[in-house]
This record gives sequence, structure tokens and C-alpha cells, in this order.
Amino acid sequence: MQVFRSYRRVRRSVWMIRTAVAALLLALPGAATAADAFPKPDAERAFSYLKQICEIGPRISGTEGMIRQRELLQKHFAELGAEVGLQEFDVSHPETGAPVRMANLIVTWHPEAKQRVLLCCHYDTRPFPDQDPLPANRTKPFIGANDGASGVALYMELAHHLPKIQPTYGVDFVFFDGEELVYDNSRDKYFLGSEHFATEYRDNPPEHTYVCGVLVDMVADRDFRVFYEKNSLRYAPEVTRSVWRTAARLRVRSFVARRKHEVRDDHLPLNRIAKIPTTDIIDFDFPYWHTRNDIPAACSPKPLGEVARVLLTWLTEVPAAEDL
Ligand SMILES: [Zn+2]
Repeated sequence: MQVFRSYRRVRRSVWMIRTAVAALLLALPGAATAADAFPKPDAERAFSYLKQICEIGPRISGTEGMIRQRELLQKHFAELGAEVGLQEFDVSHPETGAPVRMANLIVTWHPEAKQRVLLCCHYDTRPFPDQDPLPANRTKPFIGANDGASGVALYMELAHHLPKIQPTYGVDFVFFDGEELVYDNSRDKYFLGSEHFATEYRDNPPEHTYVCGVLVDMVADRDFRVFYEKNSLRYAPEVTRSVWRTAARLRVRSFVARRKHEVRDDHLPLNRIAKIPTTDIIDFDFPYWHTRNDIPAACSPKPLGEVARVLLTWLTEVPAAEDL
């Protein structure tokens, strides 16, 4: 009984302290609202976008599926208040030689800012799941829930919050076409869209400059963990470390500040041709990479929410251009 009484006393004191703190916060509206106002990405909504994109089916460059996805994205981002543009170009199909119309999709926030940050991913899917353990599956359709749709879904979710934050720089989302219009790994070229984008940026410079960039790829794995990627550390060490620092401060433990894989990805043309220091957030330990099982069931809402939270916060604390 004595225990019960003192427990009640403790509970009462805790309640009184809480009330006093709440009253204090109300008396300081600036302090209270600043903490409450920073938007929190919705992991479930991000995952619903991932499923919606997968429902289109394969989104191979130059196909009907890619066109349908592009239309969906143009509508989505325009409705949320961004400027949406296309950077079109043609390539020869690696199998038939026929022309394939490609389009990088560029979504612009705060267009007046002359110094900008590039957030990007690829939005095409590989023609076939070449790594499937069953050889018979390697000529069947590939959905690309993690390898393709996850990055797109992440930016669709971020778009709800971009108008509500004050980023350090202007922000562009860029969706690269033709990351892997690859039928033969030893013959066909990767990174068609990012290479075109980087070459245009170098040869026909726009009025703005990109201070730095972040590429995301495979960010919805159920066992999501991302390490420092070696090419990112080589070309964009400060950008890489700054993103992981933000994650550590937010206690997002899926970002591990340790180097692991070396990945060739769309960040290579950005770093090498455009000289935009760009890091790659990629979970390369995905067991269903390039298999028929890269489907929504292999993915989870949680990492999408985590990466969205890290990037949204990081956009408000990007280091000064001269430090990158
Ligand atoms: Zn891939």
C-alpha cells in the first residue's frame, strides 16, 4: 500500500512537471512550433507510391510502361507545386539499332535559386532479371520494386514536404532514363540518361550550378542498411559524410558510417563529367537484385520513411559550397 501511495505521488509529480513544461512551451510559441512544424514524411504513403508504380508493370526505356510512369509523375509533381520539365534525347536500341526516345524528368523547386542541390534516381527498369537463380526466369518480365520504383516513390513522398521547408539551396529532383537498358552486360552501355544530363551540364551550362548531389537506388529493402559507398567517398567525401552525419543525429541506425561496396551507378557521370560531387545511397545487399522477386513484398515502408526523413533534414543543413 505504501508503495502504491508513493507511486501515485511520483506519478502526480511527473504530471505536474509535464504540465509546467507544456505551459512554458506554449508561452514560447516560436520554440514550440519550430520543433512541431518540421514535416515528417509518411512511410506508408511512400510505400503506396511504390506499389502504384509497380502496378504499371515493367518500365523499360522507350516502352509504354515508361511513358505511363512518366505521365503519372508529371501530374503528381505539377499538382504539388513543382515545375516539371523533360530533357529528351535519342539512343539506338542495343538489340535492334532502332531509335529509342529517352527522357530525363526534371522537377524543380524554388526555381529562382541559382545554387542548387540535385536529388536523383533512375526510373527505368532493366529489360530482364538477369540474376534470377532460375535460368528460365531470366527472360520473363522484371518489375523492379526496389531497383527502380523505390527511388521514385521516395521523391513522390518528399514532394509533399518540399514546399514546407526552407532548404539551404534550390532543389531539383532528376529522374534518369536508361540507367540499364542492358540486354548484354558486356556489350551494352549503362547510365545513358545520367551521362546525357552530365554532358549537357558541362557543354551547355545552365544559369544555375549544382553545389552537390545525392543519388538513391534500392532504398526499400526489408533489411535496409546503407554503408558509405566507395566511389562516393572518392569523389564526394564531404557530401557523403554530411548525409550520414544527419542520419546519426536523427538516430537513423540503418545508415552505417562504414565503407562497404564499390558501386558503378548514375553518380559516376555526375562526378566525372559534370563535376558535381554526388553521393550514392544504395543498399547493395539486396538478395533479390535483378531477380523476379524484386517485387513490393520484398520491400517495406520503413526505410522509405527513414531515407525521406534524412534527406529532408539534410536539405536544410547542406554544408557551404566551398566545403564540398
Ligand atoms: Zn539494376
